[in-house]
Amino acid sequence: MKNAYFGEFGGCFVPELLMPPLLEVEAAMRDVLPTMEFKIELEDLLHNFAGRPTPLTYCPTLSRELGFHLWLKREDLLHTGAHKINNTLGQALLARKIGKTALVAETGAGQHGVATAAAAARLGMDCTIYMGSEDVARQAPNVVRMKLLGARVHSVESGTRTLKDAINEALRAWISSQASTHYCFGTAAGPHPFPTLVKYLQSVIGRETRSQLLEKTGKLPDAIVACVGGGSNAIGLFAPFLEDADVRIIGVEAAGTGEPGCFNSAPLNLGAPGVLHGNRTMLLQNNDGQIEPSHSISAGLDYPGVGPEHAWLHKTGRVRYGMVKDDNALAAFHRLCKAEGILPALESSHALAYVLNHPQEFAPDSSVIVNLSGRGDKDLDIVVKAGEM
Ligand SMILES: *Cc1c(COP(=O)(O)O)cnc(C)c1O
Repeated sequence: MKNAYFGEFGGCFVPELLMPPLLEVEAAMRDVLPTMEFKIELEDLLHNFAGRPTPLTYCPTLSRELGFHLWLKREDLLHTGAHKINNTLGQALLARKIGKTALVAETGAGQHGVATAAAAARLGMDCTIYMGSEDVARQAPNVVRMKLLGARVHSVESGTRTLKDAINEALRAWISSQASTHYCFGTAAGPHPFPTLVKYLQSVIGRETRSQLLEKTGKLPDAIVACVGGGSNAIGLFAPFLEDADVRIIGVEAAGTGEPGCFNSAPLNLGAPGVLHGNRTMLLQNNDGQIEPSHSISAGLDYPGVGPEHAWLHKTGRVRYGMVKDDNALAAFHRLCKAEGILPALESSHALAYVLNHPQEFAPDSSVIVNLSGRGDKDLDIVVKAGEM
């Protein structure tokens, strides 16, 4: 396998039985992804089915208050409500091109499950989603959505019955079904080649952002900011800017409640290197290397690991990774709603909160772009329960 590593992070730490399908995905990336036929079909799906290109929206009120120019990349306007559809349509199409008829995927909050089920339905593929039983209970509306879209939802009873266990089960299921099935992995993590494949498919976010801001202002942004769960919306925005030394790049992890020793979802800031789900990366773990439970008010950031390329970008210092607490994310959510008329996902609210909380880091009149990875309608229950209404 070539290019399986980002510095010392990444790799392909999987049982031997998983190597054949992973090599098959790697071969498809080499032979199918770059073809004109694939590009045209994917472009058509992204445009006519998912709703690309998404706008780059200027925030007049917040910009006036902050003293610099704030822009939002509107991935919240995509079909199924977040950036995840960029990845699932790409993987589903790639899988179909190499003769697969079925998709299997994990889901935590259910967002990736819904986006996978939608792509499978659109492309006429069978779909099975693995979801921890804890999450099946917590995220009932997304279970209904997946079923309406024709997916089977398999409730996972092992471990903590959440995302981490759903990934383990889905990988296991893939071993026995690999002839007919592609594993549509949901973020820029997991074994090689998933971090590279998901980055490739999500980079459309950064490419559009770049040309949209150039068209509007004639300049590159001074800073770009995205929340980091597994890291797919962030690496998708960052990738086309990594070589631009003058563009500051900021990833934002979820700090949880912020109490000392609290559960969090900030493995880059608070974790240590280790191996989980087939790659070496930064992880929340105890001194024996056992994975610690994660927590964030936003379900989409609630993962004890992070994509290996982020671990490397953190280590090299090219990207700065900050942290935002639950209550600051909620405050940013409310501020965007009232100031600009947009309900952001609580995940995306972490990225926005970083900018709102550190205005002194951004020069007057600079251009700052926040990736609005998803819409907040899914989070209304949490927001209402948290009060402040
Ligand atoms: C799933 C999700 C995330 C986190 O996933 P990444 O792979 O880190 O992008 C962020 N925002 C939204 C709206 C999501 O649904």
